Amino acid sequence: MAFEGLASRLQSVFGKLRGKGKVTEDDVNEAMREVRLALLEADVNFKVVKEFIANVKEKALGQEVAKSFTPGMVVIDIVNKELTALMGGSNARLERSNRPPTVIMMVGLQGAGKTTTSGKLARLLQKQNHKPLLVAADVYRPAAIKQLQVLGGQINVPVFTLGDNANPVDIAAQALQHAKENGFDTVIIDTAGRLHIDEALMDELKNIRDIAKPTETLLVVDAMTGQDAVNVAQSFNEQLTLTGVVLTKLDGDTRGGAAISVKAVTGCPIKFAAMGEKIDALEPFHPERMASRILG
Ligand code: GDP
Repeated sequence: MAFEGLASRLQSVFGKLRGKGKVTEDDVNEAMREVRLALLEADVNFKVVKEFIANVKEKALGQEVAKSFTPGMVVIDIVNKELTALMGGSNARLERSNRPPTVIMMVGLQGAGKTTTSGKLARLLQKQNHKPLLVAADVYRPAAIKQLQVLGGQINVPVFTLGDNANPVDIAAQALQHAKENGFDTVIIDTAGRLHIDEALMDELKNIRDIAKPTETLLVVDAMTGQDAVNVAQSFNEQLTLTGVVLTKLDGDTRGGAAISVKAVTGCPIKFAAMGEKIDALEPFHPERMASRILG
């Protein structure tokens, strides 16, 4: 289960606070020391932890707690609210272009779950009565096109492909034309990834972006990779100006660092969470629900 270690550590810290009739400054400091350690162990970015603890302390040592009959609960509530705010506050929705089709460009490193997520996103949009077109622009990874076709086949969403000898920029341009001519209101472009960020990859993605003019550029990152996911998000954002992040593999035993740090470090909201390999396993990311899950 994701966040298990973090959740159980926080629950034990809060268990001690919950019953207290009076919460002293020492109690708050002690609790925050433990919360700090728990967050660091969950691989949350160091600076993010520092600021988070400072914010919670400032609020917890204010009047609100001292006056309350249930001061422990007030501290827990402050932590909950700050954690929610850290992850973006409320659900960040997909933007739509007022000149259809809306183009969503999916980017990310190889293995993060980009192709799978493209299929899942098409499924989600289809359920909202949109008409998506999937575009196979990953011409490097063997079987990426076939994989997208299989996903599209499962949900009856067409996949635009020019095979793996075509240039991804041409694929994007022709796909857009095809979408306009055939009434697709959303185009999801599955771009190529690499094992590591390199200049050739970024150049290719910028060329696709310049042609496709995406409304959404979504970075797909593997939540299991913790701080690496945050670093990847930072690099992609610097180069491509992301509009959002999709965290995948939240069904695994991720410690939580990426989910908690990505928004605070990059400024990009997490828009979706993927929680499994199946086509329906994608959900809009709700910071408040995630905070409740982490705090147990
Ligand atoms: P890409 O190289 O970024 O296109 O990655 P893929 O879409 O091929 O995904 C890589 C692997 O991760 C595949 O085996 C997927 O089934 C798996 N995967 C993707 N998303 C999830 C997820 O949310 N949970 C789990 N458990 N596996 C996932």
